[in-house]
Amino acid sequence: MIENIGTACSLIGQSSNVIITGHVRPDGDAIGATLALRSYLLDLGKKATVILPNAYPDYYSWIPDIRSVVILENNQGKVMEIIKEADLLFCVDYNQLSRISALRPLVEPLKIPRIVIDHHIGPDIPCDFLYSVPSASAASELVYRFICELSGDEAVTHKIATQIMIGITTDTGGLAFSCNDPELYHIIGNLVAKGVDRNDLNIKLFHTYSLDRFKLMSHCLSKMEILADGRTALIVLTVKEQKKFRYQVGDTEGFVNMPLTIQKINRSILVREEEDGEVKVSLRSEGDNPVNTIAELFGGGGHKNASGFEAKLPLAEVIERLKRVIH
Ligand code: 5GP
Ligand code: MN
Repeated sequence: MIENIGTACSLIGQSSNVIITGHVRPDGDAIGATLALRSYLLDLGKKATVILPNAYPDYYSWIPDIRSVVILENNQGKVMEIIKEADLLFCVDYNQLSRISALRPLVEPLKIPRIVIDHHIGPDIPCDFLYSVPSASAASELVYRFICELSGDEAVTHKIATQIMIGITTDTGGLAFSCNDPELYHIIGNLVAKGVDRNDLNIKLFHTYSLDRFKLMSHCLSKMEILADGRTALIVLTVKEQKKFRYQVGDTEGFVNMPLTIQKINRSILVREEEDGEVKVSLRSEGDNPVNTIAELFGGGGHKNASGFEAKLPLAEVIERLKRVIH
């Protein structure tokens, strides 16, 4: 049961032109969840558009309907036009408006109803309907539940099921973490029953990276260091190194999880310098070992075992500060 679902139902009922937004550097869950919601709203006869602040990784270009996504950094004019017409806003897979970066000033002033669907702790977006379950495996799982609550499982088409499965699979590392809820397996079962081919999907999701990405991964693993605490791995990647390996958007996705496969390593940090001088940091951990508290020290956030932040500081300073707080 989703509390007050009637409110969401009437907000959708009154709308005809919906915009669905996801976070910066969209991952498989942000993409899967927003596109699944779009598919559902289109089936209801609405106009619905997914807007993302920046580009999705090229290796996701096979995802059904991904070409319909309007990307702000590539198409500001089109985004403005779509936003002008919108009468309902969905915020999916993020809990703070800062997570949509350059899209924020365009979306925040809109005087249209807002629905938030998210699985991060402490949702902090003013809205008319909030569906927040921090324990959920993925925002895509919540979109599935949301659709079922509103229209029943019959409304979940093969395409919607595929988009949802992509989100759940990527956010749980192929059902390897955030995966202890028995209900999740009922959902997976329902999605497979809709004809989703998990064998095929896993190949498309995890076995179609570029050779450059593979070599970059090998480089990252070879330069990984283990910090003085003996349980934290650190990988630092400069812009120069990224150029050498012809880095493409999303190429480092997943790297941060790899050191966790080493015995006794239960915390892993990937620090990546960006072209614009910002530094992007990803943190992962295992067990009762929060890393979101570390990310928060730098103005970021996330989940207990998966968090991140961005810093407008020199790379060396970020590393030094991180080493100071890690012990
Ligand atoms: P990733 O390391 O894959 O970029 O992000 C992992 C998780 O950390 C995301 O799902 C999100 O919850 C959180 N996260 C990453 N970057 C940021 C950030 O800059 N700010 C906040 N608040 N959360 C972040
Ligand atoms: Mn996400």
